[in-house]
Amino acid sequence: MNDMIKKVTQLLTDKTIDVFIGYGKGSADRSRAIFVRTAEQAENLVFSANCTQNLAGYLLKHEVKHLGKLGILANVAALRSILQLASEFQIKDGEVLVLFANPDGSFTEFLDFHSIEGYLLTTETGITSGEQERIAALEAMSVSERWTFWNQEFEKCIKCYACRAACPMCYCHRCTTDVNQPQWIPVASHERGNLDYHLMRAMHLAGRCVNCGECANACPMDIPLNLLTYQLISPIKAGFGATAGMKSDAVYALSTYKPDDKENFII
Ligand code: SF4
Ligand code: SF4
Repeated sequence: MNDMIKKVTQLLTDKTIDVFIGYGKGSADRSRAIFVRTAEQAENLVFSANCTQNLAGYLLKHEVKHLGKLGILANVAALRSILQLASEFQIKDGEVLVLFANPDGSFTEFLDFHSIEGYLLTTETGITSGEQERIAALEAMSVSERWTFWNQEFEKCIKCYACRAACPMCYCHRCTTDVNQPQWIPVASHERGNLDYHLMRAMHLAGRCVNCGECANACPMDIPLNLLTYQLISPIKAGFGATAGMKSDAVYALSTYKPDDKENFII
């Protein structure tokens, strides 16, 4: 930990960065994101097994992005978020200083996207066995059982949009849900509007989700909405050979078109 405090202090003192996004002490035994702007504030940085949040969700937030050059403490999910954001032209190489927390407590500085890509090829990036089991259980259901399951989950949604705020890939300045002329998604939390919101969100994240789980972690109603986007990972890999967040120059599978694309899904 002291190594990281020293490193961040030095980065801030020599003006390599203006703000560092890391973990600080939260309530009880939880950690929370902190935004370190001075050497004194660097003393508040902590790192422990509880520091699992994907901090990349802050990189494009207006109030953070405009503080100056950013540094971030990244976990695997944050590394993948950074590459995915790069592939969507939201971050340029060298724009964000990335420190990676190694499992043994040491820290590695990634100097460019290429080195992040190389590291991700050597480490586990998939969903957990528990999540795999939940997806298998969903896939074992009939279509109508699955429809009932998701409608019951979405009925609980209070439209707080914490899932959207926590997601590193939900960075539009104005979300479709907030547009009221025309009103694409009903504002109130009710059956139809909730379904519209979640289906729209899942489709917008298809092939872009880096399986960090932050949307579900943020949900006060315990809706496992990450499973929706996780379920789309395999078909997109099988159909297009694409996995989100593994290459900084990847072309988004669902936004490209070739004249000889198969059209056998059109009935
Ligand atoms: S949809 Fe959920 S799991 Fe996927 S990148 Fe966004 S927050 Fe992470
Ligand atoms: S965080 Fe949960 S309750 Fe809030 S909008 Fe998202 S799904 Fe609904």
